[in-house]
Amino acid sequence: MREILVAGNWKMNASKKSSDELVDGIIAGVPKGSGFQLLVCPPFPYLASVAARVAGSAVRLGAQNVSEHDAGAYTGEVAPSMLRDVGCEFVIVGHSERRAMYGESSADVAAKFQSAQAAGLTPILCIGETLTEREQGSTEAVVDEQLGAVIDAAGIAAFSAAVIAYEPVWAIGTGMTATPEQAQEVHQHIREQLAAKDTVVAAGVQILYGGSMKGDNAAGLLAMPDIDGGLIGGASLKAGDFLAIAAAAARN
Ligand code: PEP
Repeated sequence: MREILVAGNWKMNASKKSSDELVDGIIAGVPKGSGFQLLVCPPFPYLASVAARVAGSAVRLGAQNVSEHDAGAYTGEVAPSMLRDVGCEFVIVGHSERRAMYGESSADVAAKFQSAQAAGLTPILCIGETLTEREQGSTEAVVDEQLGAVIDAAGIAAFSAAVIAYEPVWAIGTGMTATPEQAQEVHQHIREQLAAKDTVVAAGVQILYGGSMKGDNAAGLLAMPDIDGGLIGGASLKAGDFLAIAAAAARN
């Protein structure tokens, strides 16, 4: 049985004070029940402080980006070993904002995925189509290309230590959530693509949905057979909103 992973991507939000308060609020309100994991991904400068607060709690720590290199003259970059050093277990790679605004190609994302795994981090690989691509009927082709680049570079076995997040770009930060059926259709397709290479890996990998997930739509999405959690942006910035999604994930 795959556990539900509820992951918060704080993006470039919060301050030292507010990130400490946010994580304290999340830790204090972790729902009772089982079958779910909670993860927060603060901005780089607050990772160490949040790491100290989550230590010994049920909340785990991740980063939002990572270098494809592990050390050296790469001004402004953060190495995967540094993220491990401050207590991260996960890192988001290939978020659509990085693909669109920072020109990250699928090959770049594959290199980050591999560097993260080499350092012992679990990459959360984000894939998803734009509205135009969906309207053109290219959703499957887009996710196949984004996923295929990583499978080709890292091998299918690498997905036994990775998470995938299907994030339709048109649903991110827009309030336009995919319906559970729309999301399930793509999640099932992603799992089938993996299963064509390795059925055991495909059955075990967590595939999260991301795109305006909130407390009031989480239960419907999480009830779908191939949706194993959420990657949450806006609703991860208030402890109560994030915990409402966690409550939908908890098996009581
Ligand atoms: C995201 O950026 O990964 C995301 C899902 O954002 P939001 O929940 O705000 O749509």
